[in-house]
Amino acid sequence: MSTTQELIRQLLLNLGEDPTREGLLRTPERVESSFAEMTQGHRQTVEEVVGHGVFEEDCSEMVLVKDIEFYSLCEHHLLPFYGRVHVAYIPDKKIIGLSKLPRIVDVFARRLQVQERMTVHIAQAIEKVLEPKGVGVVVDAAHLCMMMRGVQKQNSSTMTSCLLGSFRSDFRTRSEFLGLVRSIGR
Ligand code: ZN
Repeated sequence: MSTTQELIRQLLLNLGEDPTREGLLRTPERVESSFAEMTQGHRQTVEEVVGHGVFEEDCSEMVLVKDIEFYSLCEHHLLPFYGRVHVAYIPDKKIIGLSKLPRIVDVFARRLQVQERMTVHIAQAIEKVLEPKGVGVVVDAAHLCMMMRGVQKQNSSTMTSCLLGSFRSDFRTRSEFLGLVRSIGR
Protein backbone atom coordinates (compact mmCIF):
# COMPACT_ATOMS: atom_id res chain seq x y z
CA MET A 1 0.00 0.00 0.00
CA SER A 2 1.41 3.43 -0.97
CA THR A 3 1.72 6.21 1.63
CA THR A 4 -1.28 7.99 0.10
CA GLN A 5 -3.37 4.82 0.23
CA GLU A 6 -2.33 4.30 3.85
CA LEU A 7 -3.46 7.87 4.66
CA ILE A 8 -6.84 7.33 3.02
CA ARG A 9 -7.27 4.08 4.95
CA GLN A 10 -6.47 5.97 8.15
CA LEU A 11 -8.96 8.68 7.18
CA LEU A 12 -11.67 6.02 6.77
CA LEU A 13 -10.82 4.65 10.23
CA ASN A 14 -10.92 8.13 11.75
CA LEU A 15 -14.34 8.68 10.20
CA GLY A 16 -15.55 5.62 12.12
CA GLU A 17 -15.57 3.39 9.04
CA ASP A 18 -14.34 -0.13 8.58
CA PRO A 19 -11.78 -0.05 5.74
CA THR A 20 -11.88 -3.84 5.49
CA ARG A 21 -15.53 -4.03 4.43
CA GLU A 22 -16.05 -4.99 0.82
CA GLY A 23 -17.14 -1.61 -0.55
CA LEU A 24 -14.14 0.16 0.99
CA LEU A 25 -11.42 -2.38 0.37
CA ARG A 26 -10.14 -0.77 -2.81
CA THR A 27 -11.22 2.77 -1.90
CA PRO A 28 -7.72 3.98 -0.91
CA GLU A 29 -6.45 2.92 -4.33
CA ARG A 30 -9.35 4.54 -6.18
CA VAL A 31 -9.09 7.79 -4.20
CA GLU A 32 -5.37 7.99 -4.87
CA SER A 33 -5.83 7.61 -8.62
CA SER A 34 -8.80 9.96 -8.86
CA PHE A 35 -6.92 12.67 -6.93
CA ALA A 36 -3.92 12.17 -9.21
CA GLU A 37 -6.19 12.74 -12.23
CA MET A 38 -8.05 15.71 -10.71
CA THR A 39 -4.77 17.46 -9.89
CA GLN A 40 -2.81 16.55 -13.00
CA GLY A 41 -2.58 20.22 -13.98
CA HIS A 42 0.09 20.62 -11.28
CA ARG A 43 2.30 18.39 -13.40
CA GLN A 44 1.56 20.04 -16.78
CA THR A 45 2.68 23.25 -18.41
CA VAL A 46 0.72 25.48 -20.76
CA GLU A 47 3.55 25.25 -23.31
CA GLU A 48 3.25 21.48 -23.54
CA VAL A 49 -0.53 21.44 -23.99
CA VAL A 50 -0.41 24.21 -26.60
CA GLY A 51 2.40 22.48 -28.52
CA HIS A 52 2.31 23.66 -32.13
CA GLY A 53 -1.22 25.00 -31.84
CA VAL A 54 -0.38 28.68 -32.46
CA PHE A 55 -0.65 30.05 -36.02
CA GLU A 56 0.25 33.31 -37.78
CA GLU A 57 -2.93 35.02 -38.98
CA ASP A 58 -3.89 38.52 -39.94
CA CYS A 59 -7.07 38.73 -37.93
CA SER A 60 -7.99 41.42 -35.45
CA GLU A 61 -11.56 40.52 -34.57
CA MET A 62 -12.55 39.18 -31.18
CA VAL A 63 -12.44 35.39 -30.83
CA LEU A 64 -14.80 34.09 -28.14
CA VAL A 65 -15.14 30.50 -26.96
CA LYS A 66 -17.98 30.22 -24.53
CA ASP A 67 -19.25 27.55 -22.17
CA ILE A 68 -16.03 25.62 -21.67
CA GLU A 69 -17.00 23.11 -19.01
CA PHE A 70 -14.57 22.63 -16.14
CA TYR A 71 -14.25 20.73 -12.87
CA SER A 72 -11.85 21.82 -10.17
CA LEU A 73 -11.18 21.25 -6.47
CA CYS A 74 -11.35 24.03 -3.91
CA GLU A 75 -8.12 24.08 -1.96
CA HIS A 76 -9.86 24.95 1.30
CA HIS A 77 -12.07 21.86 1.50
CA LEU A 78 -10.86 19.55 -1.29
CA LEU A 79 -14.42 19.64 -2.60
CA PRO A 80 -15.33 20.22 -6.23
CA PHE A 81 -16.32 23.48 -7.79
CA TYR A 82 -17.43 23.37 -11.38
CA GLY A 83 -19.08 25.38 -14.07
CA ARG A 84 -18.23 27.21 -17.26
CA VAL A 85 -15.42 29.36 -18.52
CA HIS A 86 -15.87 31.95 -21.29
CA VAL A 87 -12.63 32.96 -22.96
CA ALA A 88 -12.07 35.73 -25.49
CA TYR A 89 -9.08 37.42 -27.05
CA ILE A 90 -8.28 39.91 -29.78
CA PRO A 91 -5.42 38.53 -31.87
CA ASP A 92 -2.30 40.42 -32.76
CA LYS A 93 -1.05 38.35 -35.74
CA LYS A 94 -1.35 35.08 -33.82
CA ILE A 95 -4.31 32.79 -33.25
CA ILE A 96 -4.60 29.56 -31.32
CA GLY A 97 -6.24 26.28 -32.36
CA LEU A 98 -9.69 26.47 -30.75
CA SER A 99 -9.37 23.06 -29.10
CA LYS A 100 -6.34 24.37 -27.21
CA LEU A 101 -8.36 26.83 -25.12
CA PRO A 102 -10.24 24.11 -23.19
CA ARG A 103 -6.93 22.35 -22.67
CA ILE A 104 -5.41 25.52 -21.18
CA VAL A 105 -8.48 25.79 -18.93
CA ASP A 106 -7.90 22.22 -17.73
CA VAL A 107 -4.24 22.85 -16.89
CA PHE A 108 -5.48 25.30 -14.26
CA ALA A 109 -8.78 23.64 -13.34
CA ARG A 110 -7.12 20.32 -12.52
CA ARG A 111 -5.33 21.68 -9.52
CA LEU A 112 -6.19 22.58 -5.97
CA GLN A 113 -7.61 26.01 -6.65
CA VAL A 114 -9.55 29.06 -5.70
CA GLN A 115 -11.78 30.36 -8.47
CA GLU A 116 -10.29 33.87 -8.40
CA ARG A 117 -6.74 32.64 -9.00
CA MET A 118 -7.79 30.13 -11.64
CA THR A 119 -9.51 32.94 -13.59
CA VAL A 120 -6.41 35.15 -13.52
CA HIS A 121 -4.03 32.31 -14.37
CA ILE A 122 -6.07 31.26 -17.43
CA ALA A 123 -6.06 34.86 -18.71
CA GLN A 124 -2.33 35.31 -18.06
CA ALA A 125 -1.50 32.02 -19.79
CA ILE A 126 -3.38 33.08 -22.94
CA GLU A 127 -1.68 36.47 -22.82
CA LYS A 128 1.74 34.83 -22.58
CA VAL A 129 1.17 32.30 -25.37
CA LEU A 130 -0.51 34.63 -27.90
CA GLU A 131 0.63 38.15 -27.00
CA PRO A 132 -2.81 39.32 -28.13
CA LYS A 133 -4.23 42.84 -27.98
CA GLY A 134 -6.36 41.76 -25.07
CA VAL A 135 -7.83 38.82 -23.18
CA GLY A 136 -11.06 38.37 -21.26
CA VAL A 137 -11.97 35.43 -19.06
CA VAL A 138 -15.21 34.96 -17.14
CA VAL A 139 -15.79 31.97 -14.85
CA ASP A 140 -19.22 31.04 -13.55
CA ALA A 141 -19.07 28.26 -10.96
CA ALA A 142 -20.95 26.36 -8.30
CA HIS A 143 -19.01 25.35 -5.18
CA LEU A 144 -19.96 22.11 -3.45
CA CYS A 145 -18.33 23.36 -0.24
CA MET A 146 -21.05 26.04 -0.15
CA MET A 147 -23.85 23.80 -1.37
CA MET A 148 -23.31 20.65 0.71
CA ARG A 149 -22.11 22.16 3.96
CA GLY A 150 -21.75 25.45 5.82
CA VAL A 151 -24.20 28.02 4.51
CA GLN A 152 -25.88 25.50 2.11
CA LYS A 153 -26.67 28.02 -0.57
CA GLN A 154 -27.65 25.55 -3.22
CA ASN A 155 -28.49 27.90 -6.01
CA SER A 156 -25.70 30.39 -5.64
CA SER A 157 -23.23 30.82 -8.42
CA THR A 158 -19.95 32.66 -8.23
CA MET A 159 -18.76 34.81 -11.11
CA THR A 160 -15.19 35.99 -11.50
CA SER A 161 -13.53 37.78 -14.37
CA CYS A 162 -10.11 38.87 -15.50
CA LEU A 163 -9.66 41.46 -18.25
CA LEU A 164 -6.24 42.23 -19.70
CA GLY A 165 -4.96 44.62 -22.36
CA SER A 166 -7.67 46.18 -24.52
CA PHE A 167 -10.35 44.31 -22.57
CA ARG A 168 -9.35 46.43 -19.62
CA SER A 169 -8.50 49.71 -21.33
CA ASP A 170 -11.05 49.88 -24.16
CA PHE A 171 -14.59 50.41 -22.95
CA ARG A 172 -16.13 49.16 -26.22
CA THR A 173 -14.16 45.91 -26.24
CA ARG A 174 -15.02 45.27 -22.64
CA SER A 175 -18.73 45.89 -23.10
CA GLU A 176 -18.85 43.82 -26.29
CA PHE A 177 -17.26 40.90 -24.42
CA LEU A 178 -19.35 41.22 -21.27
CA GLY A 179 -22.48 41.66 -23.39
CA LEU A 180 -21.74 38.45 -25.29
CA VAL A 181 -21.08 36.57 -22.06
CA ARG A 182 -24.23 37.91 -20.44
CA SER A 183 -26.35 36.83 -23.39
CA ILE A 184 -25.31 33.22 -22.77
CA GLY A 185 -27.42 32.74 -19.67
CA ARG A 186 -27.42 29.49 -17.75
ZN1 ZN B 1 -14.23 25.42 -0.34
